[in-house]
Amino acid sequence: MRDLLGSLYPAVTSDPLRYAFTARSPVMPRQDKQSVSAPEIPDHWAGVAQREPAAGKRLAYVHIPFCRGNCLYCGFYRHRSAAPRLSRYIDWLIEEIRLDAGQPLVGERPIQAVYLGGGTPSDLPAEDLARLLEVLREYLPLAADCEITLEARVVGLNEEKVRAAFAGGVNRVSVGVQSFDTEVRRRQGRIATAQEVAERLALLSSEEQGAVITDLMFGLPGQDMDSWHRDLDSCQELGLDGLDTYALKLIPGTPLQKQVERGSIEQPAGLPEQAAFYAEAVEALTAAGWRQISNSHWARTPRERNLYNLLIKSGAETLAFGAGAGGSREPYSYANTPDLEAYERAVSRGDKPVAMMRVSDALQPLRDALMGGVEVGRLEVPALRARMPMPVRADPRPGQLIERWVEAGLVVWSGEDLHLTVAGRFWAPNLISGFQQICGQALDAERRVHAG
Ligand code: SF4
Repeated sequence: MRDLLGSLYPAVTSDPLRYAFTARSPVMPRQDKQSVSAPEIPDHWAGVAQREPAAGKRLAYVHIPFCRGNCLYCGFYRHRSAAPRLSRYIDWLIEEIRLDAGQPLVGERPIQAVYLGGGTPSDLPAEDLARLLEVLREYLPLAADCEITLEARVVGLNEEKVRAAFAGGVNRVSVGVQSFDTEVRRRQGRIATAQEVAERLALLSSEEQGAVITDLMFGLPGQDMDSWHRDLDSCQELGLDGLDTYALKLIPGTPLQKQVERGSIEQPAGLPEQAAFYAEAVEALTAAGWRQISNSHWARTPRERNLYNLLIKSGAETLAFGAGAGGSREPYSYANTPDLEAYERAVSRGDKPVAMMRVSDALQPLRDALMGGVEVGRLEVPALRARMPMPVRADPRPGQLIERWVEAGLVVWSGEDLHLTVAGRFWAPNLISGFQQICGQALDAERRVHAG
């Protein structure tokens, strides 16, 4: 019990950025949801698909589970990209979109943002990318200012694909870079040189058709504060619209984790060092005029909105298409089967290939407000309280946890709002996870009283 509480409550130290917690808590938005058993999924899905969309922001996620890359840290589920296989996959993906569009599920309420993720969607041949985008525009009720993001990799991103993407309505390209340092990149299995990365980003920006954003990773083996500063400077010099900065996670089973375990590659930075990289990025980017629009995301120009990521964190309804894609429609979250053959079989029968559904609990509205607020560094406490089920509102523990956050230097009061400090933003997953668990305990305690 002491360990559990220790991981929920931050330590009060003189250096909260580095030492408020000793481990990072995973954020599991679905952890308290009840699974629907496999035989019951078709009935539950039929209920979901026959319902018109409710009021509120909506999103669509399209999954391309293919990639030719060999990044050592990669924990994404993916298949090797090969043109015939990709084209066949797009045939089925288009069929799935058409099937859903024939149901009340898709409806007419505008979709604010579409995200093509993977894997690596830019591995698609230009003609497949073009026909997929055409179908998305034809069958989904996209808002007039819909943000359409394409995830891309430097290798294989040629002029033809860039033109097909922008002509098809893409207005935001997110290029995975991780580092501009060729040596650091190569050690992670990323083969493009810094020069090639810069040229490809310049090609995208020169089209003047949409936001060009990239992501940088900190805590990589071989990376030091100087190379991190050079990475941040490169984003400024290249005139990028947006930037994601995130910490390396050693995912069990990845080639990187195995090499670190064997000792054939040096240990990546620990949490206190990662915290220092994060704080440096906050300071350097703020000084250079970037706006921090979420804990990990930065905008340099008005073109960058980061709409999809902000809305999904606040619990916006998400339509999901593709093998392995995950979506949500209250009170459910759901995911398609990641198995390509099972995916094709289901779509060819005219069925939605849903393989997992979970039903949310009474804490979901609170969870959405918490995650959405933490993401932008500001928690509106009265709004949180209004979303608490009565037993949670009456329980002293959520308030006590907030007091501890203040004492530990992770948040500060501003009127009735809580603003996250730099340390609070670094430890954001722990704040979310701790608050969720405390509220879950309060709800369970009440249930036990009633059951008893
Ligand atoms: S490009 Fe992305 S999906 Fe492909 S191997 Fe690298 S991290 Fe994984």
